[in-house]
Amino acid sequence: MTQVTFATHEVFNQSPPFEDVDLYTLDQSLVDAVAANGGASAHKELSEFGRHWGSAAMAARGRIANENTPKLRTFDSRGVRRDEVEFHPAYHELMARSAHGGVHNSTWTADGKPAGGAAEVVRAARFYMVAQVETGHLCPVTMTRASVAALAAQPDLLAKTMPVIATRTYDPSFAPWWTKRGMTLGMGMTEKQGGTDVRSNMTRAERDGNAYRIIGHKWFMSAPMCDAFLVLAQADAGLTCFFMPRFKPDGSINAIQFQRLKDKLGNRSNASSEVEFVGAYAERVGEEGKGIRTIIQMVQLTRQDCAIASAGLMRSGLAHALHHSRHRSVFQKHLADQPLMQAVLSDMELHVEASIALVMRLCRSFDQAPHDASEAAYMRLLTPAIKYWVCKSAPGFLYEAMECLGGNGYVEEGILARHYRESPVNAIWEGSGNVMCLDVLRALSREAEAAQAVLQGLVDETSGLPGATEAVTFIGKAFRRPDSERVARLAVEKLALLAAGAALNKVSPRHAELFARTRLAQAHAGMYGAVDLAGDDIRALLDRTLP
Ligand SMILES: Cc1cc2nc3c(=O)[nH]c(=O)nc-3n(C[C@H](O)[C@H](O)[C@H](O)COP(=O)(O)OP(=O)(O)OC[C@H]3O[C@@H](n4cnc5c(N)ncnc54)[C@H](O)[C@@H]3O)c2cc1C
Repeated sequence: MTQVTFATHEVFNQSPPFEDVDLYTLDQSLVDAVAANGGASAHKELSEFGRHWGSAAMAARGRIANENTPKLRTFDSRGVRRDEVEFHPAYHELMARSAHGGVHNSTWTADGKPAGGAAEVVRAARFYMVAQVETGHLCPVTMTRASVAALAAQPDLLAKTMPVIATRTYDPSFAPWWTKRGMTLGMGMTEKQGGTDVRSNMTRAERDGNAYRIIGHKWFMSAPMCDAFLVLAQADAGLTCFFMPRFKPDGSINAIQFQRLKDKLGNRSNASSEVEFVGAYAERVGEEGKGIRTIIQMVQLTRQDCAIASAGLMRSGLAHALHHSRHRSVFQKHLADQPLMQAVLSDMELHVEASIALVMRLCRSFDQAPHDASEAAYMRLLTPAIKYWVCKSAPGFLYEAMECLGGNGYVEEGILARHYRESPVNAIWEGSGNVMCLDVLRALSREAEAAQAVLQGLVDETSGLPGATEAVTFIGKAFRRPDSERVARLAVEKLALLAAGAALNKVSPRHAELFARTRLAQAHAGMYGAVDLAGDDIRALLDRTLP
């Protein structure tokens, strides 16, 4: 190319893009966590997936899908209602690639049963890698995967929908779900007067033959171009779960009217709507009056995905930060060789390594829960604790990662600004922080014996780790207090740290020791890098981040 003659300077000392990498094999902490939880045999396919999602082309799609946000087309030019949302082709490509990898369904068999083996762990590894590239489109992906658990309450409906959910084809056409090559599902619970408190839902369900007519609204209903939604509404016997398709059985458009799309801090490639149901057709899922019990099966899985995605966002932040600091010189020395930057980055690696070990351990419990009561108890007690700790730690972590890139971290050409804006949502939706703490307390009171056994298991698995015994005593005392709600955040954070120490101990005992020393035996300082780690440990940690 001809050199531009008016250039006044040469560009140097900038890091090259962190692209065209294998997001799997480059990430030793991920590889080890997958292997420790039963997924080692998927190494080759995960590496292929990691190369695809680590490509410059996928990174570009992620950026473009967020720059060209979805648009609601309420009416056409003649004033006829359309209620369609238009997405940029880059968004559709992201959806197609995730569907192709089975991120939306691979934990289920073709007839909607848990797939078994290490399906949860392997799919979580994919979800973790995709989250490093683009998280917005994962909203309908995660909801589709999770919906199967709620549809299981209505076997005839599950049998009808599963052949369309189980394909690995993404079909964005606006058409009745039963005519499509693949389908996506969303969820509508939150109303203006209450999100956490879904019992306050005012949306009504009136019987109409074998089906129902739904009248009311939802204040947040994401991914409005899903082919169907699982919606809560008040029927005669109380709050009930319904399957509400975009098209009625006769092929006409259902009465689902989108009012507007939310103008969100992040998550911009994904559409989240406000919607009115004006007598919308719906079929019941599970018994009347058992809506919460039915939909909680779905919510449990979306909470798991929130934790996986937040861990993925943090991994991406750290990988970009270390990559940059290995190329950027300040005062004649690469940033990665400056002791203070090493302290920051290695401390961050400890956090990411523990998070991914913990998340994969949780996914193993999802794999084994159907036939192992102790794993079911682990899943029940620790899903809210892990969602709480991993998701709430992400914004602060990503802010620090961004700062490692200096000013470049703050601008929109890089991915870190987007990751940062994205990161709070996983803590807010699917049960906000306090709600997760209350859910841990609920598990402890309703399934006390099983929860005690989980705690005992963590005691055994953290034996010898600094601060573990004191943490267990603290947790036990806090949860037994009559005012346990008031100190629930203290205890739930300790519980998550203890579980993270236990999970990391299976993957990397030395790093579990460092994690426990800096997080359990003492309170971690407010900032990353405010720790005293030895030079050898720092080198070992950073080698794990990127070889
Ligand atoms: C981008 C985005 C997309 C969304 N998509 C969907 C969707 O597709 N479908 C859907 O149904 N919803 C969706 N939501 C809604 C989301 O799930 C709710 O916002 C969330 O559950 C919180 O409910 P709320 O907003 O009504 O807040 P509230 O329930 O009013 O809670 C406010 C705060 O109070 C705390 N709190 C609640 N109860 C207690 C208590 N007893 N003690 C102490 N603290 C408490 C909560 O932790 C929270 O921090 C979405 C939200 C966002 C931001």
